[in-house]
Amino acid sequence: MLVLAVGVFAVPASDAGAAERDGACDSGEVCFYYNSNQQGAVSDFSSSVGSYGESQPKCYEFKGSGKGAGECMKNQAASVANRSDKPVTVYYNSNYQGASQTIPAGESANLSAELKNQNASHLIGDTGSSGGSPAPVSEQWASPVPSDARITAGYPRYSGGGYHPGIDTVGFRTAKSACTGTVKSVDIHPKYADDNAHGVKGSSNFLRIDCGGGVEMGYAHFYARDLPKDIKPGVQVQAGQDLFPIGNQGNSSGTHLHFEVKVDDKYVHPFNFLRSKGVTGLPG
Ligand SMILES: [Zn+2]
Repeated sequence: MLVLAVGVFAVPASDAGAAERDGACDSGEVCFYYNSNQQGAVSDFSSSVGSYGESQPKCYEFKGSGKGAGECMKNQAASVANRSDKPVTVYYNSNYQGASQTIPAGESANLSAELKNQNASHLIGDTGSSGGSPAPVSEQWASPVPSDARITAGYPRYSGGGYHPGIDTVGFRTAKSACTGTVKSVDIHPKYADDNAHGVKGSSNFLRIDCGGGVEMGYAHFYARDLPKDIKPGVQVQAGQDLFPIGNQGNSSGTHLHFEVKVDDKYVHPFNFLRSKGVTGLPG
């Protein structure tokens, strides 16, 4: 009589419930492990991350109950399971720079001696090049916030009627670059760099990204201490790349992101602009 081994393996739960950052390596995700051979606590992702953060509570961490749980994952991962349908490339530096190792779709690997405990970013999808060159542009536009972010102030007016040239959102942790472009400026207020100053006009920190073609995007209210050091003028950023954890800095009445878009130096509705570029999943 034939005994088939196939049936003894547990069938994973349906993909429908797959959620990133829940400590379970679901189908479609890329998962980093604290130990080799996919052992220890896990950090699971469904998108690329250009900067993991340096320390708690502002870092991406290992989840679950295994060894390393709760620790920041930057420079602490030893192995990877790629359960997505695209290759994932792990980089030595933030923002997809430096030495790298690519793990094909559907495969698992221990990180090389060079990358083990020296991982700083990962890019899901084809990098289109080999070696240490920066990842080329794959997508030009992305949403700066998750689809379940909540809008607390719209464009072009606050509910009270005052002029508001952007959109304010809450209910998430990390703001992402909405375009592939170049950091144009980082304005840190000299007095309120890391402090709230509600009611003080002009007190908010501002990051501006030049998207090319006359398009510029502005981000406000992050704490200076939270902005990764490699987000500075002249640096290229990718659409969808993490920029900073949102904050309550400057002229702000609660932790949120203020996001604005200018086309040829004129404010436009930020989310409608992105929708016109084919971006989906924007809140509101
Ligand atoms: Zn605002």
